[in-house]
Amino acid sequence: MRHILPGTIAARGMTLGRARLVQPSRYAVDTRPLADDEIESELTRLHLALDTARQELRELRGKLHGALAREVNEFIDAHSLLLDDPELLRGLDDLVKVGHYRPGAALKKQRDKLAAVFEAMDDPYLRSRKEDIDQVIARVISALQRQTSVEERKLAARVGKILIADTIAPADMAHLAGNGLLGVVASSGSPYSHSAILARSLGLPMLVGTRDALANIHDDDLILLDAERGDAIVHPTAQDLARYRAWQRESALEGRRLATLANAPTRTRDGIDVRLLGNAESVADVALARSRGADGVGLYRTEFLFLRHKGLPSEDEQFIAYRDLVLGMGGLPVTIRTLDLGADKADAAGLALRGEDNPALGVRGVRLSLRYPAVFTTQIRAILRAACYGPLRVLVPMVTQPDELIAVRTLFKLARADLKRENVDLPEKLPLGAMIEVPAAALNVRALLDHADFLAIGTNDLAQYVLAADRGNDALENIYNPLQPALLRLIAYVIASGRRAGKPVSLCGEIGGDTRFTALLLALGLAEFSMHPGQLLHVRDRIAALDHAALRHRAPSLLRAHTHEDVETLLTHLDPGFAPSRA
Ligand code: PEP
Ligand code: MG
Repeated sequence: MRHILPGTIAARGMTLGRARLVQPSRYAVDTRPLADDEIESELTRLHLALDTARQELRELRGKLHGALAREVNEFIDAHSLLLDDPELLRGLDDLVKVGHYRPGAALKKQRDKLAAVFEAMDDPYLRSRKEDIDQVIARVISALQRQTSVEERKLAARVGKILIADTIAPADMAHLAGNGLLGVVASSGSPYSHSAILARSLGLPMLVGTRDALANIHDDDLILLDAERGDAIVHPTAQDLARYRAWQRESALEGRRLATLANAPTRTRDGIDVRLLGNAESVADVALARSRGADGVGLYRTEFLFLRHKGLPSEDEQFIAYRDLVLGMGGLPVTIRTLDLGADKADAAGLALRGEDNPALGVRGVRLSLRYPAVFTTQIRAILRAACYGPLRVLVPMVTQPDELIAVRTLFKLARADLKRENVDLPEKLPLGAMIEVPAAALNVRALLDHADFLAIGTNDLAQYVLAADRGNDALENIYNPLQPALLRLIAYVIASGRRAGKPVSLCGEIGGDTRFTALLLALGLAEFSMHPGQLLHVRDRIAALDHAALRHRAPSLLRAHTHEDVETLLTHLDPGFAPSRA
């Protein structure tokens, strides 16, 4: 039956796919008792599902070859045995016939009973076999739920997967992206989380805060993920699918219109030039930034290289990635941010400390890098070597006070001296900049400007720390709002301080690429925006429609506002393109 689950848009787009639940043991089952005249047909459905599961296992075995087959066949054997276990089957039949349980509820009850037996075992190996029970029961429940219409089954067979999860870690997202993932529906999370940023970068539509998604979506359900309106539509109708096709046509047309702006200058209606930079995490981002006419890369998040890696990437591996980034931009300036691990970005090598009580306030960003000088120096050497291939700037994340920048400069100096001794050609100067994302750094920005060659405002974190509101927590939506006056005043202060010092200031938080905030940021004096390259043309288009002088004139009133609602009202009058909606 069609139903709609609303969520918050974290990455725009639409896609059609089959649901893949991350926690199959949390299947929701129908617990209403069966009527007497339903028992026979439901028993048939149950046995049909058991047969399907057996058949799937046989097919799986037929597909496996070589060493992998030997290993996996053990599991297949164990699962097949379970599916034929007389006690399990008798128990299931009794639950349906005598207990009036529906098949799904009976399977879940048997699962819970068997899981409890395994859990109570002393032997850790046997205890771990509980997973087999989970997987077998999940397979049967899934087969049961796939007993939908033939039409839907045909469609489902042709589409890829939409992940349905409570939350998804950035590392998992990076891994799944290459494996046929089409989109994500998360029951919690926020559009400002790193996973959401990654989803935008990967072009995967994503909803967060889709409450009860795990309870109301079943494995293999057909889902139309509408991350334009903010809905996950389960079992979409023909009309839904027609709307999806219309959206595909419209977005292709809009894409063609915007493509004509790829080589246009970024200029306001009254002739003020603005610099647009790309945030890049991958080779594809770099290519996109170039093709959309970016003025350079304003943020390359090196931690994603570490998150994709099983251990720590070597100097050479890093060098190749950074060199290719520089070469890929063909002489345009590239800003490489040093490692920003910690908080929600935990690497497989275990550099980011685990078990901190307050990881967002803990050892992350430059704090972590300075704790591991050998790891940091490997990165610094790779960056310095890549700097021979084109203009490069270095950006330091999570700076709180000047001594951190001084320490980073010292490490660069030492690495430079070593490389010189190794006869590596190096450019004379490498600009070093500070991310402004800690309130202390924003308030004391003049002290940092004595040591930084440029600044980049990271509003994702600055908002989190100014407002004491976790950027990934959807329960704080009303507080974590980029229009909060306290945040705007800090942004304006940092921009003005940079200008007075004659040093460039860019903004690379998510609002930089969100056209709803373009007018506001121009009003606050921003002249360099850095964003996911997919947004470059939208922002250029928006800027062309805005009058810089008129916006600057309104800055004092925006900065005098008392609440984010007041700012929203002012913006609605100021900018016809401003729509007070989410993400
Ligand atoms: C920010 O905090 O705004 C930022 C750009 O860095 P990240 O999102 O990687 O923390
Ligand atoms: Mg940040």
